[in-house]
Amino acid sequence: MKKTIYNSAEAIHIDRPITDQYGRTFNYLRLAVNEHCNLRCIYCMPEEGVPFKPKDRLLSKDEICKIIKLMVEMGLEKIRFTGGEPLLRNDLVEIIHFATQIDLIKEVHLTTNGLLLPKYIDQLLDVNITGINISLDTLKEDRFKQITRRVGLNQVLEGLKLAVSSNLKSVKLNVVAMKEFNDDEILDFVDLTKENNITVRFIELMPFDSRQIWKTGKFYKSDQIISDIKSHFNNIKVVTGSKTEHKIFKIDGYKGKVAVIPSYTRSLCGNCNRIRITADGKILNCLYSQRETNLRDAMRKRMPNEKIKNVIRRAMHMKLKDGWAAQTEGKERRESMTQIGG
Ligand code: SAM
Ligand code: SF4
Repeated sequence: MKKTIYNSAEAIHIDRPITDQYGRTFNYLRLAVNEHCNLRCIYCMPEEGVPFKPKDRLLSKDEICKIIKLMVEMGLEKIRFTGGEPLLRNDLVEIIHFATQIDLIKEVHLTTNGLLLPKYIDQLLDVNITGINISLDTLKEDRFKQITRRVGLNQVLEGLKLAVSSNLKSVKLNVVAMKEFNDDEILDFVDLTKENNITVRFIELMPFDSRQIWKTGKFYKSDQIISDIKSHFNNIKVVTGSKTEHKIFKIDGYKGKVAVIPSYTRSLCGNCNRIRITADGKILNCLYSQRETNLRDAMRKRMPNEKIKNVIRRAMHMKLKDGWAAQTEGKERRESMTQIGG
């Protein structure tokens, strides 16, 4: 049962939506709740980790809840909590609970590597989370160790099993598809959709790691992934998915779906409805942008709510046309996805 704490007329001041100069409206927040992780995926983090910021530089629970509330007033309808590994944050369930209690928020999701899902799934279900995306790039134990530099495939599979057998509205599997790493497992992943009502999403490798793996010939383009899948199945139907899922397929008779996400190709920027916030409270108006707006400091300076909202509006209004244009802003290169949460 959904309880309500912020749906009364006094508490919510419905304000105009967050838009940009290209006519896009932003109603989907992707919020990184930490930078730390219990895995070290080779395309994401170096073995030794990244220079993690001290806790007091990260958003506190109250700051996260305040951002959510202000954004709801500006039309926020969907939230995804990500990281680092979000389940390492011990107040995560409380933060999710805060979000799921707000009637105007239609969906609250989590992206996790799944290692801690067996421990937390019941609590997540108790607070009415809408959906969980589990990141898993291989179904082979030795390869899991090679890709994540840790052990734990069985825990992730256990988490997936529990999520599938729950009453969650959405369970998705995020598979970063890479040549010579897991391209030989694409069909095994598609097979998971036969008996399970999940969406398996193949994601293009993005250039956000210190070793720049994507430059080493491992890049597996979304169009190629699609044609490789199509060459194995003659009973594929195209179905619709979320705004930024490139193509969604369903194999005739299978319970789940298969999606391909062109995260590097960037062919869906015109549909973007996402606001990203890093664990240390910086607004990123595009995954590829280096330009950040410091929302944390605006709040810590005790700016009035209206001014904080304007900081958010301005940051999003300045969003460039697409990820290619955004990439040209600033000189630095991101060293890890843990800082932005994907
Ligand atoms: N730790 C959680 C997890 O792995 O699901 C949440 C954070 S992780 C940064 C979010 C997503 O970004 C994961 O699905 C991960 O596979 C993906 N990711 C990380 N680095 C990537 C890269 N260089 N290219 C494509 N996807 C990447
Ligand atoms: Fe951790 Fe997720 Fe990055 Fe892997 S992709 S190292 S699980 S944050």
